[in-house]
This record gives sequence, structure tokens and C-alpha cells, in this order.
Amino acid sequence: MTIPSDAECGYLHVGYMRNNGKNVFTLLRILDGDKNTLAENDEECSQNKFICTLEGKWVRRGSPVNTDDPSLFWRTIKSENPFLHKTRKTKVNDKTSMTMVGVVFPEEYSLRKKQDGWVFLMRHLQKVNKNHQEHNALVRPVYAGRVDMAHRVPFFDLLQQKKIAVFGAGCLGAPSILEFARCGVGEIRMLDHDFFDPGTAVRWPFGMDAAGQLKVVHLAKFIRKNYPYTKARDVVHRLGITSLAAKKENTDLAVLRDILKDVDMIYDATTELGLQHLLSDLAAAQKIPYVGISTTQGAWGGIVIRISPQSTAGCWGCYRHFFAKNKKMRPPADESGFVQPKGCGDVTYVGAGFDAQQIALEGVRAAVSTLTQDNEGGYPALPWDLSVLHLRDGDGSPIPHTWATFKIDPHPDCRCAND
Ligand SMILES: [Zn+2]
Repeated sequence: MTIPSDAECGYLHVGYMRNNGKNVFTLLRILDGDKNTLAENDEECSQNKFICTLEGKWVRRGSPVNTDDPSLFWRTIKSENPFLHKTRKTKVNDKTSMTMVGVVFPEEYSLRKKQDGWVFLMRHLQKVNKNHQEHNALVRPVYAGRVDMAHRVPFFDLLQQKKIAVFGAGCLGAPSILEFARCGVGEIRMLDHDFFDPGTAVRWPFGMDAAGQLKVVHLAKFIRKNYPYTKARDVVHRLGITSLAAKKENTDLAVLRDILKDVDMIYDATTELGLQHLLSDLAAAQKIPYVGISTTQGAWGGIVIRISPQSTAGCWGCYRHFFAKNKKMRPPADESGFVQPKGCGDVTYVGAGFDAQQIALEGVRAAVSTLTQDNEGGYPALPWDLSVLHLRDGDGSPIPHTWATFKIDPHPDCRCAND
């Protein structure tokens, strides 16, 4: 938020909350002396669950207050500004009232360049045995608006306009979902049916804290709390179960139609060939890009396949035709790399999270590039459609990460060649 340089003093609206034992404040609005709004925070920041909203005051000063003693700080600005002699305090509980005072001053942000800097003073009044005890504390200001995010990740604003449907929230899908939220994707719709078995904490982003939670419910809750600029929608559904088991309104078709409405991309982390076929077909029908990621037994390697109507000459079927014949497209796999752990209905693969996550990260890179490459400030275009990761050689000895990349051209035997 920036305010006119000739505005001298006024009011503040500040949301107050407690977070892990700390007082945390969100500056919601800056008003002038007549209570006209000068600047307002992003709407998403006003949706936090605040204990209360404080009305505070702010004043402009020609230089910073040169002290880190909160009481001296308060005495200094109070003696300079009759406007601060009366400050309204807001009751935060039976015994405590609080207010916030802001001081804005010229601050050097890079060599000899100045802009408004802020410092805040929390004023706290507590009733102890009929006496009022006053306590002042300086509050460190930090900047976490959309603009501040975009300073660090230049394509943040472009991704804010994008909606991605992610299928699968396992050890590849979950880290991908979190990366999408970090870099600013506007809306993530995530589908998975499974709950988090804490025995898989060795390669899922969360541990015991999430035990027994539905994976997408937990991920969406975490994103809403931590990444306010990303809308997170969880869809708990198992694709491919018989229609007898599904409620009529929850048929696969109805669920798919709903989750895919107006999305910009399908991101497939199901690592299930039948679903990959279906989802890549749906993406083609909707003329949106498809990105599919998978790892191999032992997490010795993996695949990222991107089929984009703009950038890829062939289709997913072409890719499968090439894949069937071309050994170079096969990532290495540990043939003995399956186990059936105690209490687990399915066989699973042996492999570490740090190996599997390489594939998730490359998948997110392919997705972000595909979504933003044509815009100014976007992530550059990747000149390949398929990338194959090798973490081991054929005998299982570790090798430096090696990515083999391929363009997917139309295959003469693919049905798309005869369309
Ligand atoms: Zn094809």
C-alpha cells in the first residue's frame, strides 16, 4: 500500500490475530485525518479470522525515530503530534485493550533512492488489580502483498489468472500442488480419494500432524491458511469405481465436468495408465495442455510428458506409440522395487521422497512454462515435450541427474494421423 506524500496523519485499520503464541497484525486500510481511505490491502488479506480489528493512528515524520526503546519512541512521537494525544483502544478481552500507532518516514530502499518506510508501535493496556498497566512494543513490518510476491517470482501475476486441475495427491501430486501454490497459481482444484497413511510420511510433504486426514482436504486447508492468493478446492472422489458405489450426483462424468470447467490445464499425477489416457483425451477435447508425471520402481527415474495444443505437434497417443518402440524414452527402474507393507492393501514401490520430488519439480516447471511462455515476463518456453529422468544406471548405481528430452511429433500409426 502506498499513500500520497502530502498526507500528514490519519487513521489505520489493523486486523489482530494470535499465531503460534505471537501477536500478528495485518494492515487492512490507511485513512486520512477525515477518515477517507487512502490505501487498502488486497481483499484476500481481509479474510483472515481476526480476533478484532483495531482502529489506530499514523503520523508522517521527516526522519526515523532514532531509538529502539518503545516507551521513548512513544514519548517522542506523542510530544511532536497533538493528534496522538488521544488514541482509542480496542478491547481484545476482559482485561486488555490495544491500539496501533504507525510512523511513516523516508527510508532508503536502494542506493540513494527513498520511499515511505513504516514502523509500528503496539500500545497495550492491561487491568491488574484495578490499576491500568501500559505496555508498548515495536512491531516489525513485513511486506507480503501480491506485488511483493511478484517481485520475487516475476510470473506470479500471470499465474494468478490460471486454474489448474490436479489429479492425484500422492508423493508426486502433493509436492506439485504445494509448488503451484507457492508460485501463485490462482486456483488449484485437486482430486484424490485417499487418506494420508502416516506410514508414507517418508515421502509425503506432511507428517504425523496429517495422519488419517483426507489428502486433498489437508492440502487445501494448508494452502488456504498459508497462501491467501491461491484458491484451493478439494474434490474427494475415486475415479473408475463402479457407478453402483457412486451416488448418482457423484458419477465420474459429473465430477470430471465440474472439476474441469474453465480450467487452463490438467496436471496428472495419478501414475495410472488408464487415467492418463482418459485425462489426456479430456485435455485434448478441451484444447488445454496436459502435463503427466510418473516415477519408476525404486524411484530410479521418472517421466514428465507435456502435450500442449500450442507447442506439441503430436498427441498423447503419438507419445505412447513412440514410447513403445524407443528404449531411450524409458527411465531406469528397479525390477525388484515393489513391496507390500503391513496393513496396506496394494503393493507400493520402494523409493525415497528426495528422488521422487525431482520429477514433481520438473513437472511444475513444465506446467508453469506452458501456461506463461507466451506472455511478457512469463517462464521461457521449454523446447521439448517429454523429459526422462535418470537417477541410476542400469545396475542401480547412482549417477548425476540426467534428463533426456524429446519432442513428440505426430506418429504415422496414431489415430490422430487419420483424423
Ligand atoms: Zn497422435
